[in-house]
Amino acid sequence: MEKRVAVIGAGASGLVAARELLREGHSVVIFEQARRIGGTWVYEENHSGSSNAARNYSCHSSMYESLRTNLPREVMGFLDYPFVPRRSSRDARRFPGHEEVLDYRESFAVEFGLHGYVRFNSKVKYVGLVESNWIVKSSSSAGKEEKESEEVFDAVVVCNGHYFQPRVAQIPGIERWPGKHYHSHTYRTPDPFKDQVVAVIGNGPSGEDLCSDIAAACKKVHWCAKSWNSLSEPLQQGKIQRHLMISRADEDGRLHFMDGMSAVVDVILHCTGYLYNFSFLDTKSYIKVEDNRVGPLFKHVFPPALAPSLSFVGLPCKTIAFPLSELQAKWIAAVLKGRASLPSKGEMANEVVDFYRTLEAQGVPKRYTNHLYLETFDYAEWIAKQCGGTCHGFEPWRKELCLSTLDKKKLNPGIYRDEWNDNDFHEKVVAILAKKQQ
Ligand code: FAD
Repeated sequence: MEKRVAVIGAGASGLVAARELLREGHSVVIFEQARRIGGTWVYEENHSGSSNAARNYSCHSSMYESLRTNLPREVMGFLDYPFVPRRSSRDARRFPGHEEVLDYRESFAVEFGLHGYVRFNSKVKYVGLVESNWIVKSSSSAGKEEKESEEVFDAVVVCNGHYFQPRVAQIPGIERWPGKHYHSHTYRTPDPFKDQVVAVIGNGPSGEDLCSDIAAACKKVHWCAKSWNSLSEPLQQGKIQRHLMISRADEDGRLHFMDGMSAVVDVILHCTGYLYNFSFLDTKSYIKVEDNRVGPLFKHVFPPALAPSLSFVGLPCKTIAFPLSELQAKWIAAVLKGRASLPSKGEMANEVVDFYRTLEAQGVPKRYTNHLYLETFDYAEWIAKQCGGTCHGFEPWRKELCLSTLDKKKLNPGIYRDEWNDNDFHEKVVAILAKKQQ
């Protein structure tokens, strides 16, 4: 049966969730706290930043000016709406800048008529269950006026993103250390780091990008990480020095690294990831965030006790976000319609327990529970199967292009976006996508 569904967030996950719900005949309201769609990909130029790295910033996006995608556009795109250069494209590169991704999200929303379903400037403050209905309380602002509203829905799909609440490294002695520290969440340009000695913590995607970005402006970068598995040296070798993690910070501005070295540093930039945050969600302890594990969740989507009326789209990290959210959304829409079914609540709960036991046996820390890595492909296949019909997982070309990119990045982190030797294969992929577009 068709349901009245609240979707929280108008980023890629919320937009694709709305499209799939509408396709199944559900009625949809998308709550979006910002004044435009796009979520993470809306670059907020005027963000002032803060030297308190752990503060819960009011801005949502963590986008920096120089950001280019870390996956080829063809891999990132939705399954049935390819991310190919369009007539209006401002940046046709394989790894385009953030404006191009935002334009793609905009054109997706226009193509599927989604703008009309979005309540802009509407922040969800509370989501809770009363009997079998979900109460959604939101506050919306028009000019200076704040309006609170309360509405009832049959189901809620949470698509609020998870790159806005900074996670920072714990450093002994940091309270007495006189320097400034920032999180990549508020990083926009290297200007504030001009002529400074900077310690960058973390060698994930943001750490890699920002180290090179900052090196162009600052005096020296001390780049710290728990371990190093990249095979090549960073591009600005003279300016960037790699270390193991910071073991201690001293009152005189000196940082000590676990490799035995030390340096006097002006600024620490934490590129240490983010924490999940669902502060609006009152689920009476059915769902918790513990050491950054969001659970219990059946297949990262449905909390067994509250399924299917509460679900999450876009929760996994280290994956191919857009098309994965698309598959999760198809699954949710089909289950709410009654076209697909879930195991019993008990079976789902047992599956989650087994999953956690497996992770524990493999020595995977709790905080990586929602990280997919290469599991992405089997997971996508599994979700697609639940949706039935012609729904399919990720195409073989998508997997091949993704894996070859990861290999190239490992070998040559500085140039993988601009130098490649797979033109024949790439042309084949472009041809497949062009056919899809017709
Ligand atoms: P978001 O884009 O974060 O959207 C969530 C939306 O929910 C926002 O619009 C927000 O305003 C809204 N919202 C939140 N809380 C509320 C509330 N209480 N009430 C109302 N609205 C609310 N992925 C890739 O595939 N390739 C890349 O190259 C890539 N680069 C990235 C670079 C950076 C710096 C970051 C941070 C992420 C990157 N990602 C990349 C991952 C990226 O987050 C995903 O691609 C995708 O944007 C996630 O979309 P989402 O809709 O789940 O979340």
